[in-house]
Amino acid sequence: MIIDCHTHWGMVWEDRDHEDPARWLAMLDHHHVNRAFLLGHYNLHRSDQCEADNDRLARITAKAPDRFIPFGTVWPQKGEDAVKEARRCLQVLGLKGLKFHPWLQGFSTADPTMSEIYDMAGALNAPVFFHDGTPCYSLPEQIAGLARRFPRTRFVLGHAGLLWSWRSALEALRRPNVWACLCGPHMRAIEVLCQRADPDRLLWGTDFGFGFADAIDYRLNLINRAKIDDALREKILGVNPLRLMERS
Ligand SMILES: [Zn+2]
Repeated sequence: MIIDCHTHWGMVWEDRDHEDPARWLAMLDHHHVNRAFLLGHYNLHRSDQCEADNDRLARITAKAPDRFIPFGTVWPQKGEDAVKEARRCLQVLGLKGLKFHPWLQGFSTADPTMSEIYDMAGALNAPVFFHDGTPCYSLPEQIAGLARRFPRTRFVLGHAGLLWSWRSALEALRRPNVWACLCGPHMRAIEVLCQRADPDRLLWGTDFGFGFADAIDYRLNLINRAKIDDALREKILGVNPLRLMERS
């Protein structure tokens, strides 16, 4: 079982394929990837497209419910409307978690509206997935701070610190409610993260879907060629993602 924990329904895919995931899924099939966490792109790029893209992710998921694990987003700049939309994503649309890109969306992780959302996500047992690894709003340290303030909410570092901040991601992973998706660090960093972090909270992903390029090939090679235990690799690729999504 391989689950790609970081993909997007990209704007270029939407503009060409209009909600038809067949060609998108063919790329997963080509690499024997069974399922994918599906994040938006229009909803992260444009606040006025947010609700429409959340709806779209739900419709795309309905076309292949055994393949997609969808995540919605909201813009905290909208205040209480953002909190309402977050609740609608999780309780009406059936999206499984929330994804935020504070760098692209232009808000601080410490935004007071976000606090309400972290709390709600924790109460509904929905993971909060972050782009991480870029200043000034998306550092692993900042997300670790949220994990300390909201201990019942699970936070995912969507890039495990990217290329530059993987050491900070490793520190953040000391918090029991922080998970990290190995989508960004180089091979040696992946090996060190696998040696030193809790093996039950590591995930793998590719960022496939932002454009048409095959991001899966490269990142699957990285995890497959890294010097890590086969049992651990299996856990990261297939077991941990399902554990993250289990609702108690
Ligand atoms: Zn991404």
